[in-house]
Amino acid sequence: MSKRLGKETVSGTPAKQSKHWSIGLLESMRDPECIVKQTKKIVVIRDKYPKAKIHYLMLPHENISSIHKLNSTHIDLLKEFNKIYEEIKIENEDHSLKAGFHAVPSMQRLHMHIISKDMVSPCLKTKMHWNSFTTDFFINYEDILKELKETGSIKKISPDLHKKLLATPLQCNQCSFKPKNMPDLKDHLMSHMNV
Ligand code: AMP
Ligand code: ZN
Repeated sequence: MSKRLGKETVSGTPAKQSKHWSIGLLESMRDPECIVKQTKKIVVIRDKYPKAKIHYLMLPHENISSIHKLNSTHIDLLKEFNKIYEEIKIENEDHSLKAGFHAVPSMQRLHMHIISKDMVSPCLKTKMHWNSFTTDFFINYEDILKELKETGSIKKISPDLHKKLLATPLQCNQCSFKPKNMPDLKDHLMSHMNV
């Protein structure tokens, strides 16, 4: 798991918590209030600090700590991830969704983000939050499945690339606009809500 970068990780989890912040997902996946749907193999929960109108996390019941612990025996599990993701897309047809994993996850238990394109949310605060969903720091589901099928594991990115991706200059994810700062970006994102 990644170390905290400054005051918070890309997860946006507040610093003060009674239990270690990185196990918060394990608690949420057992809390009926947080659960959106589940099967024998997986559970889908609402992200506690959503970075868009729709932001869910899909986790396996199996104790797999991160993408870096995946191997070829998990291909069927990942196919189940996609099956449930397809159901979620149908249930949320008014939103444009994408599914993928952070290259360097902060929280324990493998989790796939399902997030809508709007990125309109009070919890979206920092450039690090933005870049973790809009640069190659966000690895699409299809690319994870492909790498797993081809190599039997998911390679770690270098610390240099990690830093570079999260420091990428701001760029709108829906047009060519380059915002000056986060408030500028958040105002601009609202203009895409009316179309
Ligand atoms: P990451 O590990 O960087 O892929 O992201 C972890 C995600 O978990 C972030 O989107 C957080 O907003 C979210 N999160 C943090 N704590 C909790 C929690 N206790 N329950 C549900 N979601 C959480
Ligand atoms: Zn735009």
